[in-house]
Amino acid sequence: MELMYSSTRNDQVKMTASQAILKGLADDGGLFVPERIPALSVSLDELAKMSYQETAYVVMKEFFTDFTEEELKDCINKAYDSKFDTEEIAPLVEAEGAYYLELFHGSTIAFKDMALSILPHLLITSARKNHVKNDIVILTATSGDTGKAALAGFADVEGTKIIVFYPKNGVSPIQEKQMVTQKGDNTFVVGIKGNFDQAQTGVKQMFNDKELAAQMDAAGYQFSSANSINIGRLVPQVVYYVYAYAKLYANGVIAKDELVNVVVPTGNFGNILAAFYAKNMGLPIGKLICASNENKVLYDFFSTGTYDKNRDFILTSSPSMDILISSNLERLIYRIAGNDAKKNAELMASLSGNGKYEITAEMKAQLADFYGNYTSEQETAAVIKKLYEDTGYIIDTHTAVASGVYDKYKKETGDTETKAIIASTASPFKFTRSVMNAIDAKYDKMSDFELVDELSKLGNVAVPQAIEDIRSAAVLHDTVCEVEEMPEVVKKFLGVK
Ligand SMILES: *Cc1c(COP(=O)(O)O)cnc(C)c1O
Repeated sequence: MELMYSSTRNDQVKMTASQAILKGLADDGGLFVPERIPALSVSLDELAKMSYQETAYVVMKEFFTDFTEEELKDCINKAYDSKFDTEEIAPLVEAEGAYYLELFHGSTIAFKDMALSILPHLLITSARKNHVKNDIVILTATSGDTGKAALAGFADVEGTKIIVFYPKNGVSPIQEKQMVTQKGDNTFVVGIKGNFDQAQTGVKQMFNDKELAAQMDAAGYQFSSANSINIGRLVPQVVYYVYAYAKLYANGVIAKDELVNVVVPTGNFGNILAAFYAKNMGLPIGKLICASNENKVLYDFFSTGTYDKNRDFILTSSPSMDILISSNLERLIYRIAGNDAKKNAELMASLSGNGKYEITAEMKAQLADFYGNYTSEQETAAVIKKLYEDTGYIIDTHTAVASGVYDKYKKETGDTETKAIIASTASPFKFTRSVMNAIDAKYDKMSDFELVDELSKLGNVAVPQAIEDIRSAAVLHDTVCEVEEMPEVVKKFLGVK
C-alpha cells in the first residue's frame, strides 16, 4: 500500500514520497509527514545479520513506497560506498559504559553525510519518476556542516547544481576551508556579509519568489532544498538507529527487545526526530534524551511546555547546534496535537508572529518519552577532558554536549542500568581548536594544522582524509556578497538574465 505524505499545516495535501522529496517544503510552509509511521517488517535476528546498506533498504522501503526496489537499492549503493572510511559506515565505540555511535565517517566527517550522501540520488530519482525536465538547483544556507556535506553529496551529480551561502565570519576556519576548496563544475560557494539567520532568510525569500521561479523555469531550472526539513534527509537518519540497536544485539551487549536509551546533541531536531521515528517503527528505544548547548530553547520547552525563541543567540563551541528555531520540532508538535494540522498551523503562526507558543497539558503529557537538558560551555570542555583522561577516547564538542546531558540524566533519574547510544555527530578533527583547548589550554598557541597533528598523536587516530585533502587544496570559491545581492549572485552563476 502506498504511504502518502501530507503537510503539517494542511491535511488536504497528499503527495507520494518522491513528490515530497522533490518539493522539500509544502506550499503552506508546513513540513511533509508520512500519514502513519510504518512498522519494521523484519525481525531483530534478521537485522542482526545485515550490513548497513541492507538495513538502509529494509527501513527506507517502508517510507519510500513509490520507489522500486531497484531504484532504492541503486540510491543506497551509490551513497554508502567507499566515500565512508569504514565498511561499517556507522561504528559503535564503547567508553565509560556508553555506546558512541560514530556518524562521522563520511566524506565531510560530520553526521550530515549520513543523509546528504543519499539525498542527491533520491532527488534525481524522484525527478525522473515525476517527469521533471528542469535541472535541480539546490539552494542552501549553512552554519558550517550542512554546506560542505551538501556540496560533497551533489558535486558532479548530473542534472543538479548546488549553491551554498555561509556567514563569512560565522564558521570555523576548517569549515570554511572545506567549503571554498570544493571541486565540481556544478558547485558554487558564497560568503555573505551577515549571520546564519540572514543567510537562511535570504534563501527562504528566493524559494518564495514567484517571479524568480518563472525566470528559472524559462531557463530550465527549478529550486530545491537540501535542508534538514526534507523528508529525504530525515528517513535515511532512521536507519542508523536500527542498525546500531541490531549491532548491540548481535554483539551480545543487549538481550532481545531490551530497551536502550538514545542521547542526541540537538539543533534543528532532525536527528532526534529520526530516533523517535525509529522508536515508532517498533525499535525498543527507552528515553529519547535531547541535549542542547547554551542555546537551550528545547530544554526550556521540554520543562515548561512553552517554546520561546525570544532570547539572545549565543555563539558556542558547538556551532552546529547554535539554533533558536528547531524546524523539525514541528513534525513532533503536529504529532502530539493528534495529527491536527489546524492546531499545529496556529502554533506555528504564533511562533512566527510572537516568537513563541505554548502547548496544551494534553500535548505535554505525550512527551513523556523525551528528556531534555543542556550542557554549558564550561561543562562541555570538562566532559572532553575527563573522557580523554579516563579512557583516551577523544570526542568533539557536539558529542560532548550529549555526553554531559547523559551524565545529568543518570544523576537526576537514577537510571544507570539502561544501556545508552550517544549519537557522535562530528569528528574531533572538525573542531580541533575547541577540543584541544578543552584538554589543555597550552594548545591555543598552535596553528590549526599543528593542532590536527597533535590531536592525531594524542588520540592515537589517523588524520581523516577530509582534513588531509584541505591542507594543500586550492581555494576555488571566493565570492562574497551582501544579503540583498543573493538573488543576483544566483542568476549570475546560472547564467540567467
Ligand atoms: C547538524 C548537527 C547537529 C544537530 O543535528 P539536528 O538534526 O539539527 O538536531 C549536531 N551536531 C553536529 C556536528 C551537526 O552537524
